[in-house]
Amino acid sequence: MKRRTFLSVAALAGAGGARAGEKETAAPSSAKVASGLTITEKPRSVPIVQDCDVCVLGGSCTGVFAAVRAAQTGAKVAIVEKQNAFGGVAGSGLVNVWHKLYSNDRKEQIIAGLTHQVIKRLEKINAVRSYRAGKGGFALNTDELKIELDRLVIENKITPYLHTFYAAPQVDRGRVTAVFIENKNGRQAIRAKVFVDATGDGDLARGVGLPFEIRKGLQPPTTCAEISGLPNSTLKLIMKHREEFGLAPDHGWDSIVPGAPGVKMCAYMHAFNTDASDANQLTAAEIEGRRQVRAYMDIARKYGGEKNDPCLLDLGSHIGIRETRSFTANYKLTETDVLTCKRFPDAIANGTYHIDVHDPKTGKFKFKEPKGNFYQIPLSVLVSDKAPNVVLAGRMISTDRSAFGGIRVMVNLNQTGEAAGVTAALAASGAKPVARVDAQSVRKHLSKLGAAII
Ligand SMILES: Cc1cc2nc3c(=O)[nH]c(=O)nc-3n(C[C@H](O)[C@H](O)[C@H](O)COP(=O)(O)OP(=O)(O)OC[C@H]3O[C@@H](n4cnc5c(N)ncnc54)[C@H](O)[C@@H]3O)c2cc1C
Repeated sequence: MKRRTFLSVAALAGAGGARAGEKETAAPSSAKVASGLTITEKPRSVPIVQDCDVCVLGGSCTGVFAAVRAAQTGAKVAIVEKQNAFGGVAGSGLVNVWHKLYSNDRKEQIIAGLTHQVIKRLEKINAVRSYRAGKGGFALNTDELKIELDRLVIENKITPYLHTFYAAPQVDRGRVTAVFIENKNGRQAIRAKVFVDATGDGDLARGVGLPFEIRKGLQPPTTCAEISGLPNSTLKLIMKHREEFGLAPDHGWDSIVPGAPGVKMCAYMHAFNTDASDANQLTAAEIEGRRQVRAYMDIARKYGGEKNDPCLLDLGSHIGIRETRSFTANYKLTETDVLTCKRFPDAIANGTYHIDVHDPKTGKFKFKEPKGNFYQIPLSVLVSDKAPNVVLAGRMISTDRSAFGGIRVMVNLNQTGEAAGVTAALAASGAKPVARVDAQSVRKHLSKLGAAII
């Protein structure tokens, strides 16, 4: 990266400082500010806008699938999402590839449930392209996905809160009794018996003091863009001319957008040295990610040849975040579990995606292949004895760095959402801590609801 560019990004990151490698075991105090000064907020009464059985925080597919499964297990459910639409990295972040639903020998369907149902719904409107008749994965139209997720929420009578930020928990003797949310109506509270944390960063889990770490060398985030008229050689052109446009050496990929010939979903660069759970670093990364998109489009304009006419059609409304906080629950999934395709009696998800870790300095993808047909994710990585009414779902679940490289894809995390929803509903109806919910009962419910439980 050119010195000029580097300086501006560093300045934007401001007081955030590097926190990679940080370990925390308790809820931190209020955010540090550059001045070192603080202000004391006056105590105030906050309206309770809802009392429910299960409240899901974060509305990616993981969160929506958790809410749907909780509702289908008999719970009264609310879901809180800070963006204007559901979908998370797939919705606001534009990432549109779901991997295969079959075992590595392609003989057994190992992922079904809501992932499969949503693919079927999108197929009806030509909003999905299947590779190898569905045995090789899928490219989705993620704007259509957003509408399908809205429909799922409404059909299942879940109360949605969009444009709504989860701010803090109210904790009483280790149990979360309510969460404070902020939106155009001001600060409000939602009370629930059980909460699902599907915020990606584990904002609630951190708030209740569940142990987590922010590993050194986090996988860096990427700003995705849908662009038409790019030459096929764009990635090669970027490698050749990047210095002239202030881009660091990097590695990326692209995908087709179903039903939009000539349009690519581009994930070409990384915003290096970013801990996206830090607000200042996230701000800097958003601006840097968008600068990168303009820079590689300029490369295409200058060096892409006469027929080339790139047009920026859509820019992720949120930078795509790969990795931030990783929590410790009752079990930590390991690289060995994934590579040896270990079977778990409390398995709630199956996956085949290989271990894929993006290098924090070069963006190169480092792969390790599982030796077997599929690996499993156990329920014990979603629940902890230390948080009796919080279930984790999504990328913050309890794994080591390498296992995370495999389980982090959406077809896997969608299943963690479904399992979290059922677990939360059963804990709410049985007045039990989430870690005491019988895993076999969760598996039976999931299976009845259409999941592939093995
Ligand atoms: C650039 C990129 C490319 C990728 N490529 C692929 C791929 O090809 N295929 C694949 O399957 N996976 C891919 N992944 C990985 C995958 O997309 C993510 O790991 C996965 O989407 C994470 O899901 P999640 O539900 O845990 O988090 P997210 O999708 O990040 O969802 C978290 C949700 O919570 C909301 N939220 C967060 N904090 C709050 C709050 N305080 N209050 C309210 N709402 C909140 C967010 O807005 C968001 O909707 C990629 C990731 C990136 C970044």
